[in-house]
Amino acid sequence: MDDSAARLFESQAATALRLRQSTAAQRRLKLTQLVDATLERKDALLEAASRDLSKHPTETILTELLPLLGEAKHAIAKLKRWMKPHRISPTMATLGTTSRVMYQPKGRCLIISPWNYPLSLSLGPLVSAVAAGNTAILKPSEFTPHTNRVVADIIKAVFASDEVAVVEGAAETATALLSLPFDHIFFTGSPAVGKIVMAAAARNLTSVTLELGGKSPVIVDATADLRSAAEHIIWGKMVNAGQTCIAPDYVYVHRDVADRFVDLCRSTIAQRYGDSDAAIKSSPDFPRMIHRRHAERVARLIDEAVQAGGQIACGGTADADSRYVAPTLLRDVPPNAQIRTEEIFGPVLPILTFDSLDTIIAEINAAPKPLALYVWSKSARTVQAIETNTSSGSLCVNLCLQQFAQHNLPFGGVNTSGIGNAHGLFGFKAFSHERAVMSAGPLSALELLFPPYNARKRRLSDLLIKYVT
Ligand code: NAD
Repeated sequence: MDDSAARLFESQAATALRLRQSTAAQRRLKLTQLVDATLERKDALLEAASRDLSKHPTETILTELLPLLGEAKHAIAKLKRWMKPHRISPTMATLGTTSRVMYQPKGRCLIISPWNYPLSLSLGPLVSAVAAGNTAILKPSEFTPHTNRVVADIIKAVFASDEVAVVEGAAETATALLSLPFDHIFFTGSPAVGKIVMAAAARNLTSVTLELGGKSPVIVDATADLRSAAEHIIWGKMVNAGQTCIAPDYVYVHRDVADRFVDLCRSTIAQRYGDSDAAIKSSPDFPRMIHRRHAERVARLIDEAVQAGGQIACGGTADADSRYVAPTLLRDVPPNAQIRTEEIFGPVLPILTFDSLDTIIAEINAAPKPLALYVWSKSARTVQAIETNTSSGSLCVNLCLQQFAQHNLPFGGVNTSGIGNAHGLFGFKAFSHERAVMSAGPLSALELLFPPYNARKRRLSDLLIKYVT
């Protein structure tokens, strides 16, 4: 980072103070302009996604544009209500006072985003930052230059650089930005870099929201609607070629229905993308890995799983030159294979069989807490057992990925999969300081207890012990 990013940060100081007074109408206007500027560049964004990730325009609309526009329109509709201070009733010990919680912008914010959804994961958090009245510097991933160009263009069209600006670059740029005393850092990316971000934030005691990743398991029990499960799980796994933070990472399927489930997954892949490697490779609907290194990494995970004893039930091929990894189903992968412990982030689905729900619940609890946990079952008791006995950022029953589009739900992980939440009111709160404001009333109960203490004050304080709430 040259001095210009530090100067940009300095230039946002006065604006951040000014924005503390910004009204809902002013912030909504900015968000509306952001929506308009995005829609005006729709074709450029679709073209950019095609160049960065070989994505079909329909998939870009479904997975990038719609979540972003939904987030922005939701904020525009709800912002006035979100910004309203909440009145808080007095407690016994504070009788005679009035209290409220007000939402103040945190100030100068840094947003660092990943490459897998370069539009919605950069402008989505920006919607929350702007809704909450902050300035922001956005550092997108270095691996999506085409989308970044359009995103920078959108931001320039809507904001002066002392309000929102894009700073492009790789890890060194992020490192330099992280040394600045931002008021909040919103990071989306891997758990490994999340730890670096949190350590850097600690040096300035900057608050963080960390939207991280990990392995999101799926459980398909013997009562599940297997066809629906296969159709949704294959969609969740193959969209963006598996490069989705909440993609089903691997499946536990009950032994009694495992063969049929694998058959249904295989036929779903053939029906959607083609029934041969050549057909799938030429399908415009199946995206590519972000870069050669990532394609090689996922191909290595497949090879290593097979060497460890795993069976390929579908696909298994890769071509790093064209960043292609075939939609792949693996069976019987032993626990010591790397693919069982590392986030796959590619179109490869290990399918493991189980007999006892308790055993897989124990396995899930022994691993880092996942970002998402998916269950396919018609048994309320099974769903209840999983809900009560496991932890994950989100839990979805008989669906996957759609939780990202439900703006009224918090979106985030737990520990290794993330800290804090995004989306809707939760995103607004992530970028807001919940300030406690308390005012004295005409009568103060406390004054009855000021020293010097006497027997009456002692009796009164003893009484308070009984009634304190
Ligand atoms: P990444 O952590 O490698 O990079 C994310 C961002 O951090 C990029 O902008 C990158 O330039 C920057 N960065 C890289 N190294 C850095 C360093 N040493 N110091 C500071 N910044 C650094 O992640 P990625 O490969 O872009 O994305 C994939 C990961 O992101 C996966 O783990 C995925 O699960 C996760 N993810 C999470 C969510 C979510 O919402 N929870 C969404 C998308 C992706």
